Amino acid sequence: MGEIMNHQILGSTSEFLRRSHKHMINGTWTDNQAEAFRDVIDPATGDLLTKIQIAGQAEVDAAVKHARAAFEGGAWSGISAAERGRIMWRWADLLEAKLDVITELEVLDNGMPVAVAQGFIGYGISWIRYFAGMADKIADKNLSGTISSRAAPFHSYTSRQPIGVAGMIIPWNGPFGIFLIKTAPALAAGCSCIVKPAEDTPLTALILAETALEAGIPAGVLNVLTGDGSTGALIAGHPGIDKISFTGSTDTGKKIVQTCANDLKRVTLELGGKSPCIVFDDADLDLAIPAAAMAIFSNSGQVCFAGSRLFVHERVYDDVVQGIADFSKNLQVGNGFDPNTALGPLISQKQLDRVNGYVEQAVKAGLDVVMGASKPSGKGFFASPAVVNRIDPSQPIAREEVFGPVLAAFPFSDTETLIRNANDTRYGLGAGIFSSNIDRVHGVASALEAGNVWVNHYGGMHPGLPFGGFKESGWGRELGEDGYLAYTEQKTVSIKLNPLS
Ligand code: ADP
Repeated sequence: MGEIMNHQILGSTSEFLRRSHKHMINGTWTDNQAEAFRDVIDPATGDLLTKIQIAGQAEVDAAVKHARAAFEGGAWSGISAAERGRIMWRWADLLEAKLDVITELEVLDNGMPVAVAQGFIGYGISWIRYFAGMADKIADKNLSGTISSRAAPFHSYTSRQPIGVAGMIIPWNGPFGIFLIKTAPALAAGCSCIVKPAEDTPLTALILAETALEAGIPAGVLNVLTGDGSTGALIAGHPGIDKISFTGSTDTGKKIVQTCANDLKRVTLELGGKSPCIVFDDADLDLAIPAAAMAIFSNSGQVCFAGSRLFVHERVYDDVVQGIADFSKNLQVGNGFDPNTALGPLISQKQLDRVNGYVEQAVKAGLDVVMGASKPSGKGFFASPAVVNRIDPSQPIAREEVFGPVLAAFPFSDTETLIRNANDTRYGLGAGIFSSNIDRVHGVASALEAGNVWVNHYGGMHPGLPFGGFKESGWGRELGEDGYLAYTEQKTVSIKLNPLS
């Protein structure tokens, strides 16, 4: 491996990459039965980093068998919530001790700049600690009063129990964090997990699995199968799995729902978006311009809640769009290890072709496309940021999720039309409002069809704030108490008592 962009890769990172990677099943690194490998590519250079194995039916069956046995054996599900929490804290501490290696692997695997990787990894570790402290604080409800009378008393209550074995299917845009947004609440609740990282970014999942074992999470409780969509489909279809939690594209989410319909598995989905970011003429523009720019350009636009549609009040439209275009010219596009890099590469040639296709189509259609900083030459999958100005809302680039650093900008002059246009999408994940008028902020926040509304800032995933989508952006919520409850089943117990005689 050696030196990249004057960045000397750590010896332990190189050593990890040289390993022959296997699946983590029942606490043991396990080889695939069939020979099926996939290259893992550094998106900044196009170079081969290492290879992973593609799990098939035999590996999924083995992982399910051991995850179920671990769940039913009770070494994790049967201990107290406080004890699970203590072990999870140890997991978080051990991960923190490996931060340098994890960050390097995330940058090599995904391409994101070091500072972005550190942010995502920090979020992930904070989620472990948040959920570690939650499981012993969920109070069951005593409902006796709802059905009892003096003549016919009952003791009735609800209780929560872990859902069982959960399958987690992870995308490539936030590999470490999204692994934890799902496994931290599931483990806190006492579930066993089978995690499939994305085929493009499988590496930090392997570190997470081995570190969990080191921390004392028992064998079989946290299994990791590397593989592609075929492995994901086998997990979604396996009758021994009780719940699927998926983050990824809306199209794949729909396929997973169809598969899970066979046995009515519980399903949580966090899918795509075409999120509006709205700037009113009373906004603090010094704050709004960089925030709206990074709402779309952060992680090179490969963020499910990216603010990819910008609505700006006509009175300040030209200033704001010009401000964002100027901002985008100063965002250095390059290798994530270069400390001056603001935007890393896209994940793959396929993704780059897709994003370029949208921009070329917009140029061909005669739209006003303002390109930002130029991209480096070489084999990396780099894309320049772009702003499409005064775009007709019917254009594909204004409606479809591009998943790249491309912003569609629209002027508006009245709030009613603004809300109608902002909601005119099949998605409903995020939304941003920049305004100093508190009445306007509350009114617009309430009218927007989005699971998450950020006001005078954009994005961020605090563990205490539930996250998820309206409409075709998903089902259910992650983080917060809802994120924990999603890995439990509710049981109602009603005990008939004898009246006092
Ligand atoms: P993208 O198309 O942007 O790569 P996907 O939503 O297809 O994103 O992929 C997200 C995750 O879903 C990856 O881990 C991928 O392997 C997995 N996946 C892809 N297709 C399927 C499927 N049919 N069933 C289950 N998982 C799948």
